[in-house]
Amino acid sequence: MLVNKAYKYELDPNNHQRSSLQNHAGVARFSYNWGLEQRIELSTNNHGYDRFTDAMKQHKLLNSLKKTQFPWMYHYSKCAPQEALRDLHQAFKNFYRGLKQGKKIGFPRFKRKGVNDSFRLTGVIRFEGRRIRLPRIGKIRMKEKRSVYYQGRILSVTVSKRASRWFVSVTVEEEIEDPKFVVGHAVGVDLGIKTLATLSDGTTFANPRALGTRIKKLRKLSRSLSRKKKRSKNRDKAKLRLARMHMNIFNARQDTLHKLTTYLAKSHSRIVIEDLCVSWMMKNRRLARAIADVGMYEFRRQLEYKCTWYGSELYLAPRMFPSSKRCSACGHKKKELSLSEREYECEECGLKIDRDLNAALNLVTVSLPETQNARGEDVRHYRKSSEICMTQTSMKQEPNIDQGL
Ligand SMILES: [Zn+2]
Repeated sequence: MLVNKAYKYELDPNNHQRSSLQNHAGVARFSYNWGLEQRIELSTNNHGYDRFTDAMKQHKLLNSLKKTQFPWMYHYSKCAPQEALRDLHQAFKNFYRGLKQGKKIGFPRFKRKGVNDSFRLTGVIRFEGRRIRLPRIGKIRMKEKRSVYYQGRILSVTVSKRASRWFVSVTVEEEIEDPKFVVGHAVGVDLGIKTLATLSDGTTFANPRALGTRIKKLRKLSRSLSRKKKRSKNRDKAKLRLARMHMNIFNARQDTLHKLTTYLAKSHSRIVIEDLCVSWMMKNRRLARAIADVGMYEFRRQLEYKCTWYGSELYLAPRMFPSSKRCSACGHKKKELSLSEREYECEECGLKIDRDLNAALNLVTVSLPETQNARGEDVRHYRKSSEICMTQTSMKQEPNIDQGL
């Protein structure tokens, strides 16, 4: 099976290369903004018609203007503007698709200098020892030493700047083993605030260690930034410190999520998760940060591709399925369940169980045929047995597998 993968490394550019990278990012940003302006003008002058200028057409137009209007562009790789215009085209496609499907996808916005500076290159890209050779830029040293940097065929590289550090992400087409159907149980996964994830078999995954302290630091840094004088050196420094902290948190979260999703996709035949309407939940401000932290979208995105790689099935529970309010033993549905109630107590059958575990068990049940429960046992039998309720409660006493950092 052919799949696309990306390998990301930090670059170690010298000063000359640093400015070359910065200039290429500038060219990409300029082209993107130029293209966006052109499209807006086109759509207003034509009363909304002819708004789809395709990326290639636009690039040809830009090329024809290069000689007279933008001669400085000749110093940089032609891929940077070309790929930027492709991105712009994709942004418009997403926007119009959103309109059609009634999803809120914003109108493409102008890019700002210093915010997510990046550019993409195609063409001849080679790894030579510890260096990567990029068109027009040359050989740049990598921070990390490895014997093998990638597998497969290189399609493109994206160079990006985060907190004044440069990274390269190499997209490759790689031949991987055809997935065999994973032999294992179905598992329900509940993503939470206190615990990152609770599995229906009782396993829990902790949030990355020190996430709490990092968030505290983040708050402190952003407060300190807001007190700095505008356009001052100190403000720039504070900005960089804040950006570093953001990157720190992002990396830690990303790492934990990758470990979790790989584990899930490799060892379970079916993974059941909630199909949460995240935009609706974001309205609840107290939850907003927590959900952003947990990285719902990222979790689902990773699971989607990893399930196809490893041969497991991703099952989304129906939107309105009451996974938290339902009793996993008898099916009774509570009318109210506040977020502060960490323990689920059923007033029908007396089940006492961790709230997240209850939700995970419900999720796995919803994906099974109606007569079976989470462990493949008969539901009617399960309902009457208080013993099973007991084992469920005791499960959370088992040592947790801490996959945190
Ligand atoms: Zn019950």
